[in-house]
Amino acid sequence: MTIYEADWICPVSSPPIRNGSIAVDNGKIVSCPAVEGRNVRTFRGCAIIPGFVNAHSHLELTILRGFLEDLRFSEWIPKLTHVKYQHLGRDEMLASARLGCVEMIRAGVTCLGEVMDLGTAWQAMREFGLQGIAFQEVFGPAETQADQALADLKKKIDTYRPAQTDTLRVGVSPHAPYTVSAKLFCLVNRFANAENLRMTTHIAESEDEGMFVRWGTGAFAERWTERGIPLLPAGCSPLAFIDGLGLVRPEMLLVHAIDLEDSDFEILRSKRPAFVHCPKSNAKFAHGVARVPEICDTGIAIGLGTDSVASNNVVDTFEEMRAAIFQQRARRQSIDALDAQSAFRMATLGGAECLGLSQFLGSLDTGKRADFVVVDLTDPAVQPVYDPIAAMVYSASRHNIRATFIGGQETNVDYRDLVRECAAIAEQLRRK
Ligand SMILES: [Zn+2]
Repeated sequence: MTIYEADWICPVSSPPIRNGSIAVDNGKIVSCPAVEGRNVRTFRGCAIIPGFVNAHSHLELTILRGFLEDLRFSEWIPKLTHVKYQHLGRDEMLASARLGCVEMIRAGVTCLGEVMDLGTAWQAMREFGLQGIAFQEVFGPAETQADQALADLKKKIDTYRPAQTDTLRVGVSPHAPYTVSAKLFCLVNRFANAENLRMTTHIAESEDEGMFVRWGTGAFAERWTERGIPLLPAGCSPLAFIDGLGLVRPEMLLVHAIDLEDSDFEILRSKRPAFVHCPKSNAKFAHGVARVPEICDTGIAIGLGTDSVASNNVVDTFEEMRAAIFQQRARRQSIDALDAQSAFRMATLGGAECLGLSQFLGSLDTGKRADFVVVDLTDPAVQPVYDPIAAMVYSASRHNIRATFIGGQETNVDYRDLVRECAAIAEQLRRK
């Protein structure tokens, strides 16, 4: 058993403890606060918090950080798709996912809602010990592609499944209404339901998506027409569209949810999906601000996500929490719109709830995994500390993370070769 002491222990499930400690044995928290034990490690001037849960990420796109700057979303998506399938092979995508894992761990993230395409993220997450759900993406705008897309999806899920644990699991992700036919949405939903797999989807993210679903117009509609795919506008909001197909249920994690109509809130209230908010990615794409306090009022699980670094560009949960609070206060012109405690909960236990993993992780409670982070509060830019949660949410950054523990083990990654490998891949991409 090892005891970790710090100036502050922030369990999230209960108020911060001054000069507290946690006891860790066999990768789990055995009591909090700790009782006796021989090995004691003391982190002076620090806070111990649960590992952050980044409930929406795309590790495989890490290599594209900075490659797709200042593009409209409707241009960003096809350029991303082109480079992914034409210029990046499996080896490059694996290096990309590994770089993403290193970035996450150094930023104090220990659990992900990861959306992957090639599946290299599943391998990378296992190599680095990251927990969470790896959602296999599925695409297919034409109804004629649906059966084949489902068959391919089933095959991929079968290959991942043997390596699953309680806290590292696979899920499925029909990508978005403008890349997935109604038929494929239904087939994937039926498969997920039968196989007890969690789902996630990008929904109500952009104006173009809203136009596409409601009226069959806009940039995405033009792309379907160019490809000869018939448009079948649903005449309702994107959320109402997937709800009509049966996808909005507690095992569904909705990503973005910016373009919601008032009637959509009743769907959230009655169907109880989870929601991951990506404030910085949404803002960078000029997509608007999700109505987070109003979504909170429905009582559903809410987490925070960075989205890919191709649209963010840095994984820093402190920044993400600040962005979430500042955007809501600016939008509502109300100090009560969102506070530090709520944002901190979203970034930890809320994210765990979104992924169905809160019984195992997300807070510093007895019996949960010892996935925790040591935040150094002695930085002059963070001092003085009156309230550790407020100090971290409003003043800290990823550079204040002194250590990340996963399953009771301190992580120590030598990333220099990996950085060189990724720089060489980027050099090739630059020339294309
Ligand atoms: Zn995404």
